[in-house]
Amino acid sequence: MIHFTEEQKMMQEMVRKLVKDKVAPRAAEIDETDEFPWDIAKVFGENGLLNLVLPEEYGGVNANNTTLCIVIEEIAKVSPACGLTVFTTQALLNVLVRGGNEEQKNRFFPKFASADKICAFVLTEPNSGSDAASIQTKAILDGDSYVFNGNKIFISTGEVSDFYLVFAMTRPGEGAKGMSAFIVEKGTPGFSFGKKENKMGLRGNPTVELIFEDARVPKENLLGEEGRGWKMLTEYGNLMRTWGAASTSLGIAEGALEYATGYARERIQFGKPIGSFQAIQFMLADMAILTEAARSLIYRASWMIDQGTESSGKIEPMVSMAKCFTTDTAMKVTTDAVQILGGYGYTKDYPLERMMRDAKGVQIFDGTNQIQRVIISRNLLGKF
Ligand SMILES: Cc1cc2nc3c(=O)[nH]c(=O)nc-3n(C[C@H](O)[C@H](O)[C@H](O)COP(=O)(O)OP(=O)(O)OC[C@H]3O[C@@H](n4cnc5c(N)ncnc54)[C@H](O)[C@@H]3O)c2cc1C
Repeated sequence: MIHFTEEQKMMQEMVRKLVKDKVAPRAAEIDETDEFPWDIAKVFGENGLLNLVLPEEYGGVNANNTTLCIVIEEIAKVSPACGLTVFTTQALLNVLVRGGNEEQKNRFFPKFASADKICAFVLTEPNSGSDAASIQTKAILDGDSYVFNGNKIFISTGEVSDFYLVFAMTRPGEGAKGMSAFIVEKGTPGFSFGKKENKMGLRGNPTVELIFEDARVPKENLLGEEGRGWKMLTEYGNLMRTWGAASTSLGIAEGALEYATGYARERIQFGKPIGSFQAIQFMLADMAILTEAARSLIYRASWMIDQGTESSGKIEPMVSMAKCFTTDTAMKVTTDAVQILGGYGYTKDYPLERMMRDAKGVQIFDGTNQIQRVIISRNLLGKF
């Protein structure tokens, strides 16, 4: 059984109402224009959704994994693209909270107290996607700063962010052992933005290329010590798949199921609501089964993380199962929801084609579903 605390139930209610009032009326327009919704980001900030994982004195609620899942799920029911702003911002803050030293926390946390700062998670490169240990962006220590050179692509919440969690090689050629994690601030000389992708879905959240040309980053912005980047990525970064791709997909599936169910009650063909036909009833039943199963997997994985007592060997495959199953569920549920709406579902007058396009993106980011299956089978069989 999924058990939420009173605080979590209040958070869920607050976000549900906020999203209904402020995000729902804008969701289609954000997708159509593909423009970053600054107004929504402001509302999220004012309601504490950009600072969730921070301590209370910096405007946060010390959000645990489950609270993050709840928030992202609620936003993604209506607009996964808007949810991404919260997701990528918490992704940086989460690593800072867990992996930053006291000096870094004292220096960076106050910058977030105003609740208007946005962050991005920067790993992927043109020649390094699934094979993340092969990144080539270099960060070489020179005096009191690291000099960055290289290109990153597909970075969500791209040019609109204030802070970037960047993975780079401090010891090039040493693979995972040579990788380190840094916080890089917007405006750093030599750090600029390139191509913005014209995406199929998740539109309104800019997916952007980042360019580093002799960009100097203060050496104090290295998180942990040199060579800890891979560990941070796998220890902290991978857990975010529960409240990242998985919760986003759960929200998408729930939003699509709710819409299709309402439509099936109203749409009359052959003198009856289409919901009275068994073919439609069984499609909806299968969509509901998958969605409930996805919810159970996510919150079970999240509960295991929050307990802090389970070994990483148990948690890692659970997180991958939750990511894989939920994103595949969102794809199936949205595709069937479009089918239930017939020709109308295929038009932009209804939200389901957007949800279907959004669902495709979530199967790819946060580690593709093939890579999740690699992780699950490696935990079953060991490494060959
Ligand atoms: C909407 C969106 C947002 C994104 N946001 C971010 C972001 O904020 N930050 C960031 O760093 N990155 C981001 N990414 C990048 C994303 O993480 C990568 O696209 C993803 O990891 C896959 O890398 P790739 O595109 O290079 O595909 P590749 O790694 O080239 O893979 C191509 C295909 O081969 C398969 N494949 C690769 N290796 C294996 C294997 N060993 N076994 C089986 N199959 C395999 C993959 O599953 C895939 O189907 C985003 C991507 C998208 C689409």
